[in-house]
Amino acid sequence: MRARKILAALEKRYPDAHCELDYTNPLQLLIATILSAQATDVGVNKATPKLFAKFKTAADFANADPKEIEPYIASIGLFRNKAKSVHGACQTLVENFGGQVPRTMDELLTLRGVARKTANVVLGNAFGINEGVVVDTHVTRVAQRFGLTKHDDVRKIERDLMALFPRAKWCLLSHLLIFHGRRVCKARGALCSQDSICQQFCSNAKN
Ligand code: SF4
Repeated sequence: MRARKILAALEKRYPDAHCELDYTNPLQLLIATILSAQATDVGVNKATPKLFAKFKTAADFANADPKEIEPYIASIGLFRNKAKSVHGACQTLVENFGGQVPRTMDELLTLRGVARKTANVVLGNAFGINEGVVVDTHVTRVAQRFGLTKHDDVRKIERDLMALFPRAKWCLLSHLLIFHGRRVCKARGALCSQDSICQQFCSNAKN
């Protein structure tokens, strides 16, 4: 019940909550999400227009050497490893999936650089499939502070959130928690005393 009230309050506050990575098709979202690990969406969005103008299909990425991908993403952390992941993931897309991004968790997890979080982002946003909840640093922090989980392990946090919220809302839920985490419940300088949702649902607001 409390979880539903938090969801309703967040939906009202952030009616436009959405994935903040820029993409126009599932392949672009997959690649942008791989690139976003330990990087900001803003930083990824700065790099991807030129990257996606150069490499348009999974085959384009698969046929390139990772070294040819690197210059386009050099402004993003861990870019050498990420170039290898993008290349390897696209090789698998070409070899096993006809160059298309698959629509199941098990298939997505066969791609290099793809763990549950990335797979959930792609399934939820590109295909509208609620297979799980995206748990990133913002979701972790806000879920813990709202008392929605006591865990630190992302898989356990995801399970807690899946148990508390209706499946149809799982993708949206992660966007709402991320929006609140970026705007109010920040890692440093959380605006605890100034926020009406916080005052209703988080004990920190009364400190
Ligand atoms: S009161 Fe503070 S810690 Fe609690 S959810 Fe709001 S911003 Fe985060």
